[in-house]
Parts: sequence; C-alpha cells; structure tokens
Amino acid sequence: MKKRGLLIIMSGPSGVGKGTIREELMKKDDLNLHYSVSMTTRGMRPGEVNGREYYFVSREEFDRNIANDNLLEWAEFVGNRYGTPRDKVEQMRNEGKNVMLEIEVNGTAQVLKKVHDDGVLSIFIAPPSLEELENRLRGRGTETEEVIKSRVAKATHEFGFKDQYKFVVVNDKLDKAVDEVRQIILNAMKGE
Ligand code: 5GP
Repeated sequence: MKKRGLLIIMSGPSGVGKGTIREELMKKDDLNLHYSVSMTTRGMRPGEVNGREYYFVSREEFDRNIANDNLLEWAEFVGNRYGTPRDKVEQMRNEGKNVMLEIEVNGTAQVLKKVHDDGVLSIFIAPPSLEELENRLRGRGTETEEVIKSRVAKATHEFGFKDQYKFVVVNDKLDKAVDEVRQIILNAMKGE
C-alpha cells in the first residue's frame, strides 16, 4: 500500500508572505506538495481565479457545505467564511500526496483536534515585527485602510496562537524561510 501523504498546516498573519512561501515550495518537485484549495465567501481579488486561489461561493452555498459536513474545518475571518473541503484532502493523502493547508489559527485548532495521525505537521510563519507586517499589508495595496487596520488587529491576536504549532518560522528573508520550511517537510517525509 502506498504511504499516506503528510497533512501540512501553514498559518501566519495575512501579509506575512505565506502565499509567496507556498508558491516557492510548490516549485520544488522533491516535496510532492499539493495545495488544498479552500472555499470562501469573500470577493475575488484582481488576478484571482475561481478554483485556483479559492472556490468563491455564496454564503448560502458555504453554509450548505457546513450542514452537509463537507468541511474538515472552517472559520470566520474579518467578516468572511473560509473552509477546507474534507474529501479532497483525504483523497490526495491516500494517493500519497503531501497536502498543504494555508489556514488561520481557529481552523488549525479544529484540524489538530480532529486529525491525530503522525503525518500532521503544523508551521506558523511569523513576521519579523508587527510594524513590518503593517507596512507589507499597506504596500500590497489591495485593501482599504479599514480592512488593513482590522487585519493588523487580527495579526496581533493570531500571534498569541503560535504555540499550538509544532514549528515557528520567522520570515525575515524569503529564501531562508522557504529553505527552513522545506527542510521541515523533508525531515517529516523521512519520518524524523
Ligand atoms: P485571504 O482573504 O487573505 O485570502 O485569507 C484570509 C485568511 O484566511 C488567511 O489567514 C488564510 O490563511 C485564511 N484561510 C484561507 N483558507 C482558509 C480555510 O480554508 N480555513 C481557514 N480556517 N482559514 C483559511
């Protein structure tokens, strides 16, 4: 039987560079990494594609998925709902693929409570400082000032949850952070 793939949870405040780290990791063939596309009720940002960054759904459709127990976890984040489709994650792991979830802290707590095999890996990406994070969010230019403020407040809150993660990686330099996460995954693949 094929060895089941890892379930890799990656979290961190928005603006910390999780998305970029993930994209870099996905390019590395030795990691056999597959991204779990979440479902969300938030609006599409410019450049996003339905089914690639997220499945963009209405609130009604999202809530139907909760009611049908289709989500491994879900959470509300700054007024929108986000959740992980359960079946796809299971299917990919059974095929031996390493699955990456990029989710916030409440969702992580749910997964850690529900999934108890030793293939679960949790990594928190931390910013060098909160000031740096605010600058990055502003520089991204995709959100209003009000949303930026609530995301910074949320980041401060999320930081308090970093101890539930097995690994904390500080993203002060992208290459270094990518390498660190890559090494964590490679070690887990070797069963260390
Ligand atoms: P964004 O709106 O910036 O794409 O995502 C906002 C936050 O929601 C990020 O912290 C992201 O990691 C998180 N997120 C994305 N998908 C999911 C999901 O399926 N479940 C949970 N709990 N959080 C998610």
